[in-house]
Amino acid sequence: MSTSRHRWIPDDLDVDLDALRERYRVERDRRVRPDGATQYQRAEGQFGYYAEDPYVEPGFTREPLRDRVDAVVIGGGFGGLVAGARLRQAGLDRIRIIEKAGDFGGTWYWNRYPGIHCDIESYIYLPLLEEVGYVPRWKYSPGEEIRQHAMAIGRTFDLYRDACFQTGVRELRWDDGEWIVRTDRDDEMRATYVVVAGGGLDHPKLPNIPGIEDFTGHTFHTSRWDYGYTGGDANGDLTGLADKRVAVIGTGATAIQVIPHVARDARHLYVFQRTPSTVDVRDNRPTDPEWAASLEPGWHTRRRENFQDVLTGAKVDEDLVNDAWTASARVLGKIISTEIPDGMDPAEWEKIEELLDARKMNQLRARVDEIVDDPATAELLKPWYRYGCKRPTFSDEYLPTFNRDNVTLVDTADHGGVERITEHTLVVGDREYEVDCIVFATGFDVGKSDVATGRLPVYGRDGVHLLQSWMTTGPRTLHGFTSNGFPNLFHLGTLQNAPSVNFTHVLDEQAIHVAAAVAEARKRGVECIEPTVAAETAWVETIRATSPDRGDFDADCTPGYYNNEGMARGPRQTYGPGPAAFQRLLRAWRAGDGIEEVLGDGR
Ligand code: NDP
Repeated sequence: MSTSRHRWIPDDLDVDLDALRERYRVERDRRVRPDGATQYQRAEGQFGYYAEDPYVEPGFTREPLRDRVDAVVIGGGFGGLVAGARLRQAGLDRIRIIEKAGDFGGTWYWNRYPGIHCDIESYIYLPLLEEVGYVPRWKYSPGEEIRQHAMAIGRTFDLYRDACFQTGVRELRWDDGEWIVRTDRDDEMRATYVVVAGGGLDHPKLPNIPGIEDFTGHTFHTSRWDYGYTGGDANGDLTGLADKRVAVIGTGATAIQVIPHVARDARHLYVFQRTPSTVDVRDNRPTDPEWAASLEPGWHTRRRENFQDVLTGAKVDEDLVNDAWTASARVLGKIISTEIPDGMDPAEWEKIEELLDARKMNQLRARVDEIVDDPATAELLKPWYRYGCKRPTFSDEYLPTFNRDNVTLVDTADHGGVERITEHTLVVGDREYEVDCIVFATGFDVGKSDVATGRLPVYGRDGVHLLQSWMTTGPRTLHGFTSNGFPNLFHLGTLQNAPSVNFTHVLDEQAIHVAAAVAEARKRGVECIEPTVAAETAWVETIRATSPDRGDFDADCTPGYYNNEGMARGPRQTYGPGPAAFQRLLRAWRAGDGIEEVLGDGR
């Protein structure tokens, strides 16, 4: 064993890895379903009411638009907002954000459930803090503070002026040097540039549980919380539930935040769990005003880069965020590409990572024993998989909830989840649970943009359909933003670039890059920003060569959307060296003559 290996292995570690792997395999096999991702359905058609907008007055109408703007930005969440803000800084006048919802905020517009907070530190998660002149009031912001900040960005950058709310884009078509944007309100507007920033958490999903349509009690999805029924607000006080038996289906990152509030106020709460989450320490606290007053210009960028550096294994003098995310940095490599410690052989590092992972998971399982009184319930709440198989969660209130007399944990792991729903009950094995209300905390169609699914057809030069043109070749972009044949069209998101857990940071770096290309094109009087075929091919090759193959790791994980519900899939389409390296690459590209790759004639 090399000295470097010793350095990384904790002294207190005594793990039988073979036994642990076997336990993980058994827990995985209990949960894999043959129907994989098709066990879910979108909240549409007969279930469309689960996705309706509860925050707007029904019946909104307006005249169709037939005008011309400098840029159309699709999506009014943080992706669209940072794109709008950075394009404004680049000097564009008419910037039109088109958004399905009634205001800005994206996921923070839709999700207003009790307990909602961001689980990434607010000082790095909220974008454009210095530009807006705001310091969040909590280390982890409540959802409403985040939504207010989204609207403040809209005001600061004058993005309300041309915004179109309650509007869905139906088609993008390149025509004679500009884009025609058609919407579900019969708009046919023209734009020089289009930025697609549709986000990845906007389509709620429901399980295909037999009998789901037979339930006669009340039901809703967490992303459309029905306060008319429950009473209260995002701070809790759900007085309407005082005489109600409530079922929450799901124990993911959303349910972790919801469940303590429902438990406090409902007559009885049944938590239907299939796979327990990892629930780490939260330790939320109000912002120290002295610290806020001491912040020097540039603090926000420094802090979010520091977080990213810590998470990706770069050397830093100080861990500024210093929370349960950064404490787990060495075992996050399967979620976010991390650097291998200097001089370490990758295979050797893989083994060490597994040991560190075992230690982390043992700590999290021990936390359950420390907090939950009933040993049988504690056993059910322990996560048996590697860290990062599921989205990590953080709460100091979730686990104590199971010490309450009015809370029952129903384990559904051996039944593939809730098996059946009847008029008044949920069925698991030979037990029926009678309830008045079912809350679906069952998540979203994660990460699939409307362009990638074909729901938003895009026709480029010569009427070529973007998605169809990728059918045989796979996705083709330069840096994930632009594609040959689709001039002045930019995608923000996760495709062929480098994601990270602080996703607003990733989006802002993307927006800065897109805005820089637009500014340079305008300065030079160049009409089209479009990558050459050579540049695009080189990038696709880079992605192919570096994209991490997590096949083995994914195959050993309990199912979920991270591993396509336990079904094999091709390599991820991401830049292997990770987000920090990707951002350095983009900066170097901008500083050098990279821009020539997109400002030629695109051939
Ligand atoms: P998830 O997809 O993470 O969780 C869905 C839950 O529903 C899982 O526990 C799943 O179990 C369960 N489930 C699904 N079908 C059934 C069934 N038939 N019977 C029983 N249980 C079932 O959705 P979330 O809304 O919790 O989170 C989605 C994403 O939103 C997160 O991953 C995160 O990215 C984001 N988020 C971020 C927050 C933040 O603070 N930044 C806060 C909340 C969410 P199983 O695991 O077994 O499939």
